Amino acid sequence: MSTQVAVAAAVAGIGVYALYLRRSSASAQTGKPIFGSFGFHSLKLHSSELINHNTKKLRFELPDASQPSGLSLSSALLTVSFPNGRWLPVLRPYTPTNDLDEKGFVELMVKHYPGGKQSTHIHSLKPGDTLTFAPIPELKWSPNKYPHVAMIAGGAGITPMYQLARGILKNPDDQTRITLVWGVNTDEDIFLGDEFSELEKKFPGRFKVHYVVATPKAGSPHQKGFVTKQILEGAGLSGSSEKNQGTHVLVCGPPPMEAALKGTKKFLGGAQPGLLAELGYGKDRIFSF
Ligand SMILES: Cc1cc2nc3c(=O)[nH]c(=O)nc-3n(C[C@H](O)[C@H](O)[C@H](O)COP(=O)(O)OP(=O)(O)OC[C@H]3O[C@@H](n4cnc5c(N)ncnc54)[C@H](O)[C@@H]3O)c2cc1C
Repeated sequence: MSTQVAVAAAVAGIGVYALYLRRSSASAQTGKPIFGSFGFHSLKLHSSELINHNTKKLRFELPDASQPSGLSLSSALLTVSFPNGRWLPVLRPYTPTNDLDEKGFVELMVKHYPGGKQSTHIHSLKPGDTLTFAPIPELKWSPNKYPHVAMIAGGAGITPMYQLARGILKNPDDQTRITLVWGVNTDEDIFLGDEFSELEKKFPGRFKVHYVVATPKAGSPHQKGFVTKQILEGAGLSGSSEKNQGTHVLVCGPPPMEAALKGTKKFLGGAQPGLLAELGYGKDRIFSF
């Protein structure tokens, strides 16, 4: 929900943005992290690489190669474009997947949705093309605020979870445990698998990932189906159990998955409490990216 507020604020500021954009330069040396404060910046695409059947990894150059992006842990970038000469901008958030301390680059992993306005535009970009970004803070992460976080992601909703999990585990002062449940359509939709395996090996007992594949291939090592109450219980995420009393749940996925997890209101065709409520998680224990 925080994303929607941020997007609305950005729409309100779009006039200012249009003026700013004309003056923004991807090659200026700023001497400070460019996304340390709010503002729109146009960045040059350095490279673009297909990493599975529908997802590209794109690396954008920061204007000052000696500086990191300045994004805080659990931030996204709002992208702005006017594809095909549109009058109204297309605004969509994407979560950087590179280490936030890396200097000179931000990296995105963007899944292409057929007919999707922004993902189609981003997939069409060639090295040297530019894209406009503004930082949007998501969850304000405080180390050790919760003993355990349950991350539940669907499809490309994995990127905020990856950024946060890596940031938590990288910080020697943060002892938060993480259980990640990631629902995808097919085995081929999985990306970042090697990175997650590395984290599991490096942090046994602190990080565990459960893949749930709707239509698995023959011999797939993963659980079959959707993210259900049984799957979440099997991953040790029953909200009422003693060991999960301090567990906080983070959710990012397509709207139908979020509705199934968090429930629906009456005006959406009959109120449903949602799987997380059934598992014992109150709304104050759930955050949606
Ligand atoms: C905080 C946050 C971070 C995000 N980070 C990333 C990221 O790192 N990488 C990434 O690829 N995406 C990410 N997304 C999703 C991204 O913002 C866009 O929603 C997505 O790229 C689709 O935009 P579009 O303009 O291409 O599609 P649209 O033109 O908005 O929609 C076209 C069609 O695509 C389908 N569609 C759109 N969005 C979704 C979706 N989320 N799930 C399933 N079907 C959908 C629908 O059928 C829709 O009718 C993030 C979303 C949030 C809220």
